[in-house]
Amino acid sequence: MENTITGHTRLAALFATPIRHSVSPMIHNTAFQTLEIDAVYLAFEVGTDGLKQAIDSIKNLDMIGANLSMPNKILAVEYMDELSEAARLIGAVNTITNDHGKLTGHNTDGTGFMRSLQDIEVDIIGKKMTIIGAGGAATAIIVQAALDGVKEITVYNRKDDFYEKIKEKLAYISENTNCAITLNDLSDEHSLAKDVAESALLLNATGVGMKPLENQTPIQDFSIIRSDLAVCDVIYTPRETEFLKQARLRGAKTNNGLGMLLYQGAAAFEKWTGQEMPIEIVKPIIE
Ligand code: NAD
Repeated sequence: MENTITGHTRLAALFATPIRHSVSPMIHNTAFQTLEIDAVYLAFEVGTDGLKQAIDSIKNLDMIGANLSMPNKILAVEYMDELSEAARLIGAVNTITNDHGKLTGHNTDGTGFMRSLQDIEVDIIGKKMTIIGAGGAATAIIVQAALDGVKEITVYNRKDDFYEKIKEKLAYISENTNCAITLNDLSDEHSLAKDVAESALLLNATGVGMKPLENQTPIQDFSIIRSDLAVCDVIYTPRETEFLKQARLRGAKTNNGLGMLLYQGAAAFEKWTGQEMPIEIVKPIIE
């Protein structure tokens, strides 16, 4: 292999744990090499204890920036000099940029999802969407959809200990955007059917459909799926969950979470380099 690392080469990094399974180093290093950008991307095993020091090193080593995974995404908020509007509303940072020592926290998970809709030629701006789940992935998507101009979002979550907290959080996001956002009990099938009937998109943002719940689906009554409804899943392993399969069999346009994964990385890359990630070269790495 040709050595292209020199005294000028700069570093971008992933601070996460566990980390060795991550595809991000392959995605970003392929993009750097393709565009002949003198930079490398490395994965560092960093937990919450070492996060502050790791983030300080972005300044100290004049790094390009970093990516974070959970739970570092939430903890990092307090270490940023600035936050993007999305990161502030979500309360989590997945991408850090370094502008001459000023660290800005961004969240590209939601933009990643919104861009993935272009792959199935679905436009939800000015329309209504229904989301199942209200955890980290869902919140990032809800905030970005609201900022991008989705008119109404109905969120369905199981009535667990977090339900009231989620309600407050969604009210806060709604107050700070032009989007009407409501939280509903996932067991209320009647309301779910009504909201899905008015929605352009139905999204599963829970882990229901992947291991160890790979045989389960987040909804039970698939008669609510229309052929002109877009149905998406944040899950990408398996590539087609039972939820997506049932939706596809009813003629809906479907999309798994691979696009969200790819495009959140592309958005980070573009913030770091000012260049577009070469999607057609990077995409086969994760497919
Ligand atoms: P989280 O723990 O923050 O939230 C999980 C959500 O799922 C909660 O709303 C919870 O109430 C709900 N949930 C969990 N089990 C459930 C069940 N049995 N029935 C009904 N609801 C249930 O997790 P997260 O970080 O938001 O991740 C959710 C999923 O999104 C995971 O499958 C993860 O792999 C995926 N994800 C994908 C991407 C991507 O780029 N495609 C990015 C982040 C997360």
